[in-house]
Amino acid sequence: MLRDLPEHQNTERPPHGAAPSLHVQLNDIHKQFGRFTALAGIHLDIRQGEFVSLLGPSGCGKTTLLRILAGLEHADRGQIMLHQRDITRLPPAERDYGIVFQSYALFPNLTVAANIAYGLKGRREDRQRRVDELLDLIGLAGIASKYPAQLSGGQQQRVALARALATSPSLLLLDEPLSALDAQVREHLRHEIKQLQRKLGVTTIMVTHDQEEALTMADRVVVMNHGVIEQIGSPETIYRKPATRFVADFVGQCNWLSGTVLSPGYFRLGNAAIAAHSLAHHPTGRQVEVFLRPEDVILHPRWEAGPNMALGELKQLELLGSQYRMTLQVADWGGITLQADLNHHQLASLNFRDGQRIPVQLPANCLQCFSTEHSE
Ligand code: ATP
Repeated sequence: MLRDLPEHQNTERPPHGAAPSLHVQLNDIHKQFGRFTALAGIHLDIRQGEFVSLLGPSGCGKTTLLRILAGLEHADRGQIMLHQRDITRLPPAERDYGIVFQSYALFPNLTVAANIAYGLKGRREDRQRRVDELLDLIGLAGIASKYPAQLSGGQQQRVALARALATSPSLLLLDEPLSALDAQVREHLRHEIKQLQRKLGVTTIMVTHDQEEALTMADRVVVMNHGVIEQIGSPETIYRKPATRFVADFVGQCNWLSGTVLSPGYFRLGNAAIAAHSLAHHPTGRQVEVFLRPEDVILHPRWEAGPNMALGELKQLELLGSQYRMTLQVADWGGITLQADLNHHQLASLNFRDGQRIPVQLPANCLQCFSTEHSE
């Protein structure tokens, strides 16, 4: 069970240094669809003003969890608390949230203004003022009388966001809000939504299968797999200190090195003894899987004696946009294939030629371990 909250990063704290209060508590949520277990005992606490992302592959249960929180689906077991109030059995309309779906879900026959005002009550002038405020907030003043079909995808999603925020809900639920948009618009809207969320301080829960989206937008990321939570942590912890092999693989690229512990702090890889700080307390003889991110592999311009060094044969060089990914085969390490990421400047300064053997180093402090004989 992972429910501690050590890494809250929201800067908007209440006065006098008091910790933000708990806003949402999900206690032991279970959901079956026939014989299929969609959620198997989810525990999650979310603080006031926090931006939390539910991240995981298709079918892991993240949308089901969001829908249960919204009251659009019922849990078979478990409890949902909002500000210490049990809302498990309340209908959606009494749960005080705004929601944005992947497909824009605007009413096509209503203008932008009417779409935004849809859930608003009160006098006409007040509703009008609120719509103007919201259009301003999302940077779309001047389009009030347009219809959804006259807007781009990004604009429609902004309007959907304005509609979700119209009644000033305390909770904002986002279900893959950017996945229908093209890459450039998506990146732009990511920043806009994040800024808006900070400005309003509205507690936000976003479902996504896009790790980059989760890492760039959320204060905390909840990684899910097969209906359970694998890890909860800040984006940095999730990326740099994954708790399980699944998280390491799902969030970013990994080099996996299988070997046997030789002595505390060392494992055998091919003919070499490789130092790895994470193995300091592993018993000799244990089978381990050690992982290293491609950007942590060090490439040297010329050979020099050093720990965890070998020569790698350059097999492939791939341009990924802002950086290159190099594939190397290392004979001394049992012929393993390693991927190393480097930027344009590093590549130029190393001056590699085709077929050249390149000195490779594995930093002992970046090699992380998941034992193959017991879970960490
Ligand atoms: P995706 O990103 O593909 O939507 P997800 O992680 O959000 O994935 P869910 O939509 O929560 O996944 O679905 C979890 C599992 O439950 C899936 O295998 C899905 O097929 C199943 N499921 C969801 N809703 C129902 C339903 N109403 N009836 C039967 N099975 C369902």
